[in-house]
Amino acid sequence: MPRSAAEYINSVRDGRIVYYRGKRVDDITTHPIIGIAVRHAADLFNVKDRLYDDPNYGHISKYFKVPRNTNDLLERYKLIYEDTLRFDGLFNIVQAIGSDALFSLMIVAKKVDRKYGTSYYDRVMKYYEYVVKNDLAIAVAQTDVKGNRAKRPHEQEDGDMYLRVVEVRNDGIVVNGAKIHTTQGPVANEIIVLPYRAMVEGDRDYAVAFAVPANTKGLKFIVRPVLEYDGNPNAVNAASRFEVESLTIFDHVFVPWDRVFMFREWDLAGQLAWTFATYHRFTAISYRAATANLYLGAALYAARANGIENAPHVRDWLVQMIMYKEIMRMGAMAAAWSPGLMRE
Ligand SMILES: Cc1cc2nc3c(=O)[nH]c(=O)nc-3n(C[C@H](O)[C@H](O)[C@H](O)COP(=O)(O)OP(=O)(O)OC[C@H]3O[C@@H](n4cnc5c(N)ncnc54)[C@H](O)[C@@H]3O)c2cc1C
Repeated sequence: MPRSAAEYINSVRDGRIVYYRGKRVDDITTHPIIGIAVRHAADLFNVKDRLYDDPNYGHISKYFKVPRNTNDLLERYKLIYEDTLRFDGLFNIVQAIGSDALFSLMIVAKKVDRKYGTSYYDRVMKYYEYVVKNDLAIAVAQTDVKGNRAKRPHEQEDGDMYLRVVEVRNDGIVVNGAKIHTTQGPVANEIIVLPYRAMVEGDRDYAVAFAVPANTKGLKFIVRPVLEYDGNPNAVNAASRFEVESLTIFDHVFVPWDRVFMFREWDLAGQLAWTFATYHRFTAISYRAATANLYLGAALYAARANGIENAPHVRDWLVQMIMYKEIMRMGAMAAAWSPGLMRE
């Protein structure tokens, strides 16, 4: 069922473990910093015309529409661009990134199944149905903390530098490790975990993809302090909007098999990482073209405040910013016109 903003806000009061500046946050929705990110995410559920009628899944969010051709991609670009403008130039990630992950899992799960006779695609589609029917907010935890960048996951001195499987049970797997830079992780309903990089056979325990609810036992979000609000009085930012990010710790988290989408198929881990990144670059170029308007406006106001908006060199810089913005828009549209990924 499509949710209202209030229903989304209620759903994240679920006992999840979140820390801000060393203190446990009991209710993220009323926290002075994280509450801003909650309300920003909630605004996505207020957008008029945000749903479409899917032949298989009913009345669902447009973000979850699987793009199958150029036109679908152009519509997705428009959706992301216009929503970002609607939110004062700030992206609203919680259904865009999750759908990027789900689309990439749909493609790669099929490849893994073909090669290994597994049934990941069916699991992914069941999970997709659960997500779209419940209109969920999702974060993607892909970036590992990594440690020594010159070494592969299994070569790290500390085995938890990349997230890995530490126990295999009849009913699922147990994972350990930490992901970093998880945008809106602390305010999402679900966390989809993907491998970060291409792997070799020795890394097989690190080749893992799955999804867990944000209040899963053993999952902990350490929110990066937002200096613009509570540490740096000179910083400038919109007071009403922000997206938080976290160090997302998995301390012996259990994942049942029906939520495991890759398990030790190390030779396809890189492809999953790359396919997600390709979808997400498309999302990113679409929203950044809109965010560029925010920077352009800020630059114009700064020039006006100093009485130099008509100085030729200042106008040149403003024109450069406009060109940069338009090149990004063209990049998104060009990508939509050559969707090689979907032909594979
Ligand atoms: C706005 C934003 C939102 C993000 N949201 C998310 C999110 O929601 N979920 C998520 O999982 N991630 C997210 N990320 C994280 C992002 O994907 C990572 O920051 C990125 O993958 C780089 O990782 P890193 O920060 O650890 O940098 P590093 O990997 O440490 O890179 C730092 C520098 O070292 C270089 N380097 C690294 N390894 C090597 C090597 N082996 N050899 C030579 N040079 C090397 C790099 O090229 C770079 O110049 C987000 C990032 C941004 C900017």
